[in-house]
Amino acid sequence: MIKYAKRMSRLGTESAFEVLARAKALEAQGREMIHLEIGEPDFDTPDNIREAAVKAIWAGQTHYGPSQGLPELRKAVAEVCGKDKGFTISPDEVVITPGGKPIMFFAILALVDDGDEVIYPNPGFPIYESVIEFVGGKAVPIKLEMSKDFSFDVDELGRLVTPKTKMMIINSPQNPTGGVLTREDMAAIAKIAVKNDIWVLADEIYSKTLYEGEHVSIATFPGMRERTIILDGFTKTYAMTGWRVGYGIMPAELAKGITQLQTNANSCTCTFNQIAGIEGLRGDQSGALGMVEEFRRRRDVIVDGLNLIPGFKCLKPKGAFYVFPNIEGTGMASKALADLLMYEGGVVGLAGTAFGKYGEGYMRFSYANSIENITKALGQIRQTLAKAKQ
Ligand code: PMP
Repeated sequence: MIKYAKRMSRLGTESAFEVLARAKALEAQGREMIHLEIGEPDFDTPDNIREAAVKAIWAGQTHYGPSQGLPELRKAVAEVCGKDKGFTISPDEVVITPGGKPIMFFAILALVDDGDEVIYPNPGFPIYESVIEFVGGKAVPIKLEMSKDFSFDVDELGRLVTPKTKMMIINSPQNPTGGVLTREDMAAIAKIAVKNDIWVLADEIYSKTLYEGEHVSIATFPGMRERTIILDGFTKTYAMTGWRVGYGIMPAELAKGITQLQTNANSCTCTFNQIAGIEGLRGDQSGALGMVEEFRRRRDVIVDGLNLIPGFKCLKPKGAFYVFPNIEGTGMASKALADLLMYEGGVVGLAGTAFGKYGEGYMRFSYANSIENITKALGQIRQTLAKAKQ
């Protein structure tokens, strides 16, 4: 038996990958499954981006690049995201990483010391809690409630802050709830961060998957630029999950430390994929915009359908591509219901508890699937529950 380093016992995981493996095993036995567990667009990467990558490979862009990222891509991020997010960004404030996820890992590794507290949304992306605990920090959950449109209770946030609070993590639009923080929420969070000298890791990976309202970046509030790390990338917006290109926007001094971590971990991000990223940001946006329109149609179908199922109550999310219905009315716990729907109903979703303890009473379904499959899944959920009641 391997004697792992102690820190490994504090490392969590993303159970979406484990559930996917179980569903695939059922498929291998000949079962038909509808996948609503996966957090990735089902669309292909737009052609202009694919062509840019192929061209870059043939042009010999297949070598190491600078650890911080290609200067041309950092410049594109600074210009295009600066305009989108509403503040001036310099290329030295940008670090390109293999997907957005390493920004989470590196920022926490670089800033959180043993015993430092980090406030994070719960239910929320499970990797936040995992990495905070892994580095020896204390993960302090803030509960997101359906009755508040899955937003923060700012008074509660104020109560959770202690002299040991080093960082807070926000995610808007949010995984798993699809909730979006309003300008007022952001202003209140920013005030608390400035007053208490706290870093904010703002996970904006779904900033372009927005159906209503505006995307507000917390970095635009007074005193926030110097304490904000924005995580964003190409994976969700341009259906590029497998390409592994993302970025962080942060003070230049922190970008140096994060770059050093990158040199130690993976040297650099894939060079030709970064060139494709430039085309993503600067090229034709119709592919990305078309996906959002299709997601919006699917959202309406799944929300309306779930609300017709006895025991389910579902809000209409303003962003991302997830719904997070309350399922307490079914009388079942989240994990038991997720298992029933997968094994008996052939519909794969995730238990709310995959996103932390406050996810009990909920399930997450990703609507990155066709309207035809979503409609079929809704029918199968209804039938499975009706049968289980008999
Ligand atoms: N943040 C959130 C909230 C996510 O849901 C995900 C992916 N599921 C990521 C970050 C990581 O994205 P990437 O694939 O770009 O690393």
